[in-house]
Amino acid sequence: QWQKNLIKQDEIDRYLSSGKDFIDDEAIENEIKANSSASPERIREIVKKAFDIKLMDSADVAALLSVTDPALKEEIFAAAREIKMKVYDKRVVTFAPLYCSSKCVNACSYCGFRCGNEAIERRVLSLDEVEAEARVLASKIGHKRLVMVYGEHPDTDADYIAETMCRVYSIKDPVRGGVGEIRRVNINAAPLPIEGLVKLREAGIGTYQVFQETYHHDTYRKVHPEGTLKGNYPWRLYALHRAMDAGIDDVAVGALFGLYDWKFEVMGLVAHARDLEKRFGLGPHTVSVPRLEPAADTDFSWVKHWVSDEDFRYLIAVIRLAIPYAGLIVTNREKPEMIRSVIKMCTQRDADTRVGIGAYSDAFPETEAGAINHQQEEKQQFMLGDTRSLDAIIRELVDMGHIVSFCTAGYRCGRTGKKIMDALSSGQEGCFCKLNAVLTFQEWLEDFATGDTKEKGSKIIDKEMEEIRARVPADFSKAQLEHLEKGLLRIRAGERDLYF
Ligand code: SF4
Repeated sequence: QWQKNLIKQDEIDRYLSSGKDFIDDEAIENEIKANSSASPERIREIVKKAFDIKLMDSADVAALLSVTDPALKEEIFAAAREIKMKVYDKRVVTFAPLYCSSKCVNACSYCGFRCGNEAIERRVLSLDEVEAEARVLASKIGHKRLVMVYGEHPDTDADYIAETMCRVYSIKDPVRGGVGEIRRVNINAAPLPIEGLVKLREAGIGTYQVFQETYHHDTYRKVHPEGTLKGNYPWRLYALHRAMDAGIDDVAVGALFGLYDWKFEVMGLVAHARDLEKRFGLGPHTVSVPRLEPAADTDFSWVKHWVSDEDFRYLIAVIRLAIPYAGLIVTNREKPEMIRSVIKMCTQRDADTRVGIGAYSDAFPETEAGAINHQQEEKQQFMLGDTRSLDAIIRELVDMGHIVSFCTAGYRCGRTGKKIMDALSSGQEGCFCKLNAVLTFQEWLEDFATGDTKEKGSKIIDKEMEEIRARVPADFSKAQLEHLEKGLLRIRAGERDLYF
């Protein structure tokens, strides 16, 4: 009965056009074929246009997807890195997932949490347990931003999600002279009706993520058995539309690469962004690109579209050009070498990640114990490729020339949705972000960095300050610079949570 009541058919019908959704499989396949032999001249023209920071035309995306010449691909990779710099500068944002439950009514064939999989220990964290996890993340590791993850189950409905979110926002831990707290909570949960989404908005949701997994209708039907909630393709496809209607304007798209042809999935992501833009004047806040990974007691012999490392890197470059305004997230499903090779095209990655239920508390059993980097297959949805600490990851990012931003100001100052997207495309938001990255990174270095990381991080901050000074008065006012310089001193003296 719960399942029957959840899906509101009228909340699907309102978006359909002549009974159809916006993914036309045949049209996508035809467009890929029709643009499969684009000349290098055309490709270079398309690349040039991408610097306008606008959603790319689907024929142009199809043409980019067809490129096989290694030299031309290199030009596309270089453009992807430049576009990332143009919109997001050298910033990388770090976050951690917090898995709250492993109970799920669905039976997705690729997922360890699917119902009926006896290899998985089933659990829904109590509010106190959620708080314990968040305290480890905020106070022992130093995260400020989480994505909370939930299976689809009556025990983890919109009320539970809202309550757990509020509990996480409520923690304020004194830590090493500073404050351990989570300042932005993003949610990765099942599609909800508008009524449930309003509850999440009121509880202070950051970004709402619902990944379509595969945009290909037939494949979607095969991997999400009929009769399960997730078997309803349009209910999932329009989850983000409903979120926008509910007043949540930061929404995130993603596809699980490996379920179907990666070129089709990229076209699907772009079509999704287009439909959101068309209806709401605003595309996705972020795009995620998870690849299929092994999971406990899960058969993958049916998979025919595993994505090679080479294709994976290339699809990230194409998405960077095709949806240039959106943040691009690569996760610890991937191995460190892979993340290193794509991070200059991406904007966010997770760090010190554990995906078992209750796994952060398990990994830090005592007050000041170091992290135990083990995985617990029976508690996880899938296996991770990178389990390094946030400190080690930050050191590596800094070595590569990135500044790590813990900024959550945009969302708290109402710079979300269209406001942030317009500002990002015009370079304006980039200025706020640059200043806030300096302040928040300094704060993290003070509270959590080991000696070597602090030394390296401080050098990056010095470099960033030089750059900001050189851009006064063209991009920054004198007053902003003074405010920033004072802010750095105040943080070094123990104040926290300063931002523009
Ligand atoms: Fe449930 Fe999500 Fe796993 Fe599907 S992918 S079985 S919905 S947890």
